[in-house]
Amino acid sequence: MDKFHYVSYAQEVIFAPGSLAQVSELVDRYGWKKVFVCTNHSMQKNGHLESLRSALGSRLVATFDQVQPHVQDVKVDQALGLANQDAVEAVIGLGGGSPIGMAKAVGYVRKPSIPVIAIPTTYAGSEMTAVYGITHSRENPPRKVTVSDPKIAPRLVLYDPELTLDLPPDLTASTGINALAHCIEALYSMKRNPISTAAATRGVRHIFNSILGCYTHPNDLEARTEMLQGAHLAGLSLASVSMGLHHGLCHVLGGTATIPHGIANSIILPHAIRFNADVTAPQLLPAAEAMGISLNGNSPRVSIEALAQKIFDLVGQMHLPQRLRDSGVGMEESDLPALAQLAFQNRTVQNNPKPITEPAQIEVLLRAAW
Ligand code: NAD
Repeated sequence: MDKFHYVSYAQEVIFAPGSLAQVSELVDRYGWKKVFVCTNHSMQKNGHLESLRSALGSRLVATFDQVQPHVQDVKVDQALGLANQDAVEAVIGLGGGSPIGMAKAVGYVRKPSIPVIAIPTTYAGSEMTAVYGITHSRENPPRKVTVSDPKIAPRLVLYDPELTLDLPPDLTASTGINALAHCIEALYSMKRNPISTAAATRGVRHIFNSILGCYTHPNDLEARTEMLQGAHLAGLSLASVSMGLHHGLCHVLGGTATIPHGIANSIILPHAIRFNADVTAPQLLPAAEAMGISLNGNSPRVSIEALAQKIFDLVGQMHLPQRLRDSGVGMEESDLPALAQLAFQNRTVQNNPKPITEPAQIEVLLRAAW
């Protein structure tokens, strides 16, 4: 790593249990008088939307609560219509990566563009990046693409671990593995740099320390706080690098095969680690060490095989699907060649540190994961 280049974003990040209560003070400090919220039904059910509403008072002029996974283009158009009607000055994404992605899309495509405030309630990490994914739902098959621009990065990120106490165990586990995957792909990224490597290494440590605690004792605020810190570091590492095969493939599995993002991550990650190991094993050693794998006397390849197996086992311990054919995922084996073709054209897949020269390589990985 004797040469590197990265862009960091002028974001304000606030991390504290109970920090949601500060939102009105912050909005006033930035001078935003009319704000718009993008969220989904679960935030209404668990009361987080109501808490945000009462904190914002008259500053909140409109709410779009119909966000669905993988940010459909038609939903962005609807939310944008609402934002335009009320001449809003900032947009808040409250929830997981999907509402935050929607807020980023609305903030960016609105002319003039408006700043985004991200209030994450999962471990997906989108709040830290200058990228959003959008699914072109009118195409056949529907296709998820990413849009990147420094202007997309949220201006303000408010992490309140109390908002994650009610994240159900399955979503805790799957979005937590998504955060772990950010660290793994940041460590071997073609664009890795000292900040991304430091953040990713520390991120793996926090995630591994706390994910099972959050899964088994959802109300453990200490574990939730450590896990959210891990997710923040994972998002920070993700923000300044390019991802590779793993993330590109998860986008194809999400956008085209409609597999939830965290589930796709949980199934694919061990296989992506194995696929890349002959090129990337040395870069992943800090992750192996952070997950308690002894490096003494082992070759990097052996340690990284142990890392892949440990993640596979962790996914099983948290009762997430481990295979593409498992119930709740339900992929047909006959779908794999077409998905491999689509993934081969994916820009993120093509940024993989180990060159991918033909779709057949991806099909082999998908068959191993099936
Ligand atoms: P999500 O936002 O779709 O949320 C998953 C589910 O969790 C939803 O049903 C939601 O209602 C529920 N949920 C969220 N918080 C909850 C809480 N506190 N209590 C109860 N239920 C809760 O999914 P996600 O996994 O958070 O994010 C995935 C999306 O984000 C994907 O579209 C992915 O591509 C995108 N993403 C983008 C980036 C980026 O940098 N742009 C990074 C990571 C993920």
